[in-house]
Amino acid sequence: MTFVAELNSLAVPSLVRRSLAAGSAAVNESLAKSRLTLMDFAHLISPAAAESLEMMSRRSHQLTQQRFGKVIRLFAPLYLSNECINNCQYCGFSRDNPILRVTLAVDEVLREARALGNQGFRNILLVAGEHPKFVSGNYLRDCIAALRPEWPGISLEVGPMETTEYRPLVEAGAEGLVVYQETYDRGIYADMHTAGPKRDFDWRLETAERAYTAGFRRLGLGALYGLADWRYEALCVAAHADYLLRNCWKASVTISLPRLRPCAGEFQPLTQITDRDLTQLVCAFRLMFPDVGLVLSTREPAKLRDGLIPLGITLMSAGSHTEPGGYTGAGREKIHHTERGRIVELGASEWAAAGPDIHATQQFEIADERSPKEVAELIRKLGYEPVWKDWDAALMV
Ligand code: SF4
Repeated sequence: MTFVAELNSLAVPSLVRRSLAAGSAAVNESLAKSRLTLMDFAHLISPAAAESLEMMSRRSHQLTQQRFGKVIRLFAPLYLSNECINNCQYCGFSRDNPILRVTLAVDEVLREARALGNQGFRNILLVAGEHPKFVSGNYLRDCIAALRPEWPGISLEVGPMETTEYRPLVEAGAEGLVVYQETYDRGIYADMHTAGPKRDFDWRLETAERAYTAGFRRLGLGALYGLADWRYEALCVAAHADYLLRNCWKASVTISLPRLRPCAGEFQPLTQITDRDLTQLVCAFRLMFPDVGLVLSTREPAKLRDGLIPLGITLMSAGSHTEPGGYTGAGREKIHHTERGRIVELGASEWAAAGPDIHATQQFEIADERSPKEVAELIRKLGYEPVWKDWDAALMV
């Protein structure tokens, strides 16, 4: 059974209702178990469980230390391109947004990567908008092959592909694939994705399975919190992770917890998830999945990130730029302006206003602006070891 079929047969709204109605007895019963079901997870994200957040945090902290040690792995996103053929209402790179775009050449990608390498990173996430003309399979393969000799850990966050298209990327040296469903609510998904291949909900939902078949051995998933109700999304993410752990058992699974950030287009979140909700969610994921990596990006402010380190987070980005060329200015001379998917020449005064430090438009604003060195120092101060290389890669078969 595919995950699409499994999700279709799951009564998520009823699980959300049971979560909202759960009392402290149900929460305590779930907390007492060593193996949790989806219903237990629903109890752990309930308003009633929020009253037991201190206890959940303690458990989550102990479990994370037991399974992962006192280690936080660091990675950096490297944006290859912000060209995109999709319109996703919440994203700065949406096709119709009038923004500055560029796709880096392979040598420019190397320049960006070396700047990250000089800061200590050995684990890189290549990110790109979905645009088969600019971000083709061959282009991605060439980028990976060029990076591979210097980068022990390469993951991708790019438009979903067929299994046969993924295989050459695995052969070239990519080992991880990250794909967020954004929202698991079909109605909201349809409203948010108004043009482009991303409109196909099921195709996106099956991406992790195709990636696994192609040989990826790290699968990253998540929802973008701020679209549908956070408990609904969290239950679907938990169901998805559970499915992958059962069916793609050779892969390690990570769950990210991105919340919407300001971006071009100025989309406003449809729903709220507070810092306290997010903390509860981190603990609930940890208690449900003791061995799954939990990822927190620079979307979140420094203070919250620091506070979540001891509670269950195992992977963090640091010093991130969310535009291609953001680390070195690579590709600056090719930047162009597009409106509704077409290149539109800007006048001399508009280029002059952009100034000599012109850069492509970022996907979203980051909240934690500390340098990787500062983040690493903070991690040490909290008694953890910042790890730049993903050692699992050496242990993989
Ligand atoms: S979320 Fe991804 S697919 Fe959608 S517009 Fe942004 S880059 Fe393109």
